[in-house]
Amino acid sequence: DAKAAGRNGVTVYTGDPHEPLERLSMTSRLRKALTRGEFALHWQPVVDPADGTLHKLEALIRWEDPFRGLVMPDEFIAFAEETGFIDRIGDWVLAGVGDQVAAWRRDGLVVPRVAVNVSPRQLRRPDFGRRLLQAIGERGLAGLLTVEITESAAMADPMRTDPVLQELFAAGVEIAIDDFGAGYSSLSRLRTMPVQVLKIDRSFLRGVPEDPEPTAIVTAVIELSSALGMEAVAEGVEHEHQRAFLVQRGCPLAQGFLLGEPVPAEALRPLLAAAGTP
Ligand code: C2E
Ligand code: CA
Ligand code: CA
Ligand code: CA
Repeated sequence: DAKAAGRNGVTVYTGDPHEPLERLSMTSRLRKALTRGEFALHWQPVVDPADGTLHKLEALIRWEDPFRGLVMPDEFIAFAEETGFIDRIGDWVLAGVGDQVAAWRRDGLVVPRVAVNVSPRQLRRPDFGRRLLQAIGERGLAGLLTVEITESAAMADPMRTDPVLQELFAAGVEIAIDDFGAGYSSLSRLRTMPVQVLKIDRSFLRGVPEDPEPTAIVTAVIELSSALGMEAVAEGVEHEHQRAFLVQRGCPLAQGFLLGEPVPAEALRPLLAAAGTP
């Protein structure tokens, strides 16, 4: 068969006898991309759906491949996660966020909280917490970072991840559960974790407000967040009727193409300048 199903249900297309070669070449391409500076960050606004005020940014990785053009993370993150290269990417993302935040601050811009995505493998590393805190110290990111972890990563291995999350929380890192509702969550466990943000998976927003089931789920997660003292962020807001629904249900934050697409740092400058002066 020409397909090999990897973890996370990802399918890597390979010619059978060449599989190791294929994987090797992808890894070496990623390694080259890193040394040649082909990775970039795009920034998506997280806003109050009621008035559009900017509250946070989410940093999203892109690969500017000279041959293929802009490669989206869904095409290489799962692979990097499987091979362990995600650790190097994770380090690069933190460095990139640090450099960009420093550049914005040099220009007198007020930088809001920045959310970075952390994949399950990164979270499982015993030294993840220590390395993240070190990066925060070295790059002046204290009180500025949100770490987004997926529901499954957050729930999978409490013995290992809880101490790390507690350590980050104590250091002022905000913890968000990404794609909430798409996986399995233990509500009793959620209550004991140092989690401040629930990001409602965008698959639910798609049916809002005409489809009763996803609409009920979105409403329930907004209420659950508020009951647990957490902040709900609705993802994937593309239409005005979705925005209006979120406002009506009291959802504090939202993200989506309607409210702001992910853009390169230069394109974000006017928005940051408008958001506040130091
Ligand atoms: P995510 O963390 O759920 O990020 C949100 C994704 O939804 C982004 O896709 C964003 O561009 C897209 N999006 C935002 N608003 C809308 C909308 O209104 N409609 C639709 N259809 N999509 C919207 P992107 O940038 O392609 O990233 C895909 C995934 O790749 C992310 O999902 C995240 O899991 C992963 N990822 C991105 N950057 C990184 C990174 O630096 N590190 C790691 N470990 N994973 C990353
Ligand atoms: Ca995310
Ligand atoms: Ca998400
Ligand atoms: Ca996702």
